[in-house]
Amino acid sequence: MTLKDEQRMQFVFSLRQHGVTDARVLEAMETIDRGDFVKGIFAERAYEDTPLPIACGQTISQPAIVGLMTQALAVAPRHKVLEIGTGSGYQAAVLSLLARRVYTVDRHGRLVREAQEVFERLGLANITAMTSDGSRGFPEQAPFDRIIVTAAAEDPPGPLLAELKTGGIMVVPVGRSDAVQVLIKVTRTETGFDYDELLQVRFVPLIEGMGDG
Ligand code: SAH
Repeated sequence: MTLKDEQRMQFVFSLRQHGVTDARVLEAMETIDRGDFVKGIFAERAYEDTPLPIACGQTISQPAIVGLMTQALAVAPRHKVLEIGTGSGYQAAVLSLLARRVYTVDRHGRLVREAQEVFERLGLANITAMTSDGSRGFPEQAPFDRIIVTAAAEDPPGPLLAELKTGGIMVVPVGRSDAVQVLIKVTRTETGFDYDELLQVRFVPLIEGMGDG
């Protein structure tokens, strides 16, 4: 067994320990190599269960949190999914193995371009990445079966709630960026929205407007 295999076994073991039990989610996270999404000096730490710095002062999320968010999203193979906060592209890549189509947006053009390169290299052809302010939603492709926000908002953004299909699910960290945030699961019903609090998290903030690079 190579060191890499051992690291990957540890990686999946740690996901299970944190409560990621869905077989499809575990399989997707075993298939997508987090090492493809982390650059430079941090690459050797790709399999650690920790967030790591990426370009533009942002972070790739902790794998356990990626797993728990993906599991809470309950993605089916026919689903059209929107992600706000492409970052490294790792979360979108995991989703692309579970959904029919993934749209992912980030306010930093550089992150979108770099993620696109990785998607192309890995042949993940069902992901469309765009530079855009996700706090305004993504009307070009709405409505969505599932929406995942990977930056913390003070409230679930109204334009995103409006782009959720009936029966659709949105997972979003809510709270100020300097305070405790709670991961919320929002389900759109025939008559309104149901809210479930899942766990405490810590994300970089959702910032309105476009990034400077
Ligand atoms: N999902 C990513 C991690 C995201 S970090 C991954 O798997 O690596 C949060 C990202 O949200 C950052 O890249 C940041 O630029 C982006 N972001 C913050 N506010 C945003 C907004 N209004 N619209 C789009 N992206 C935003």
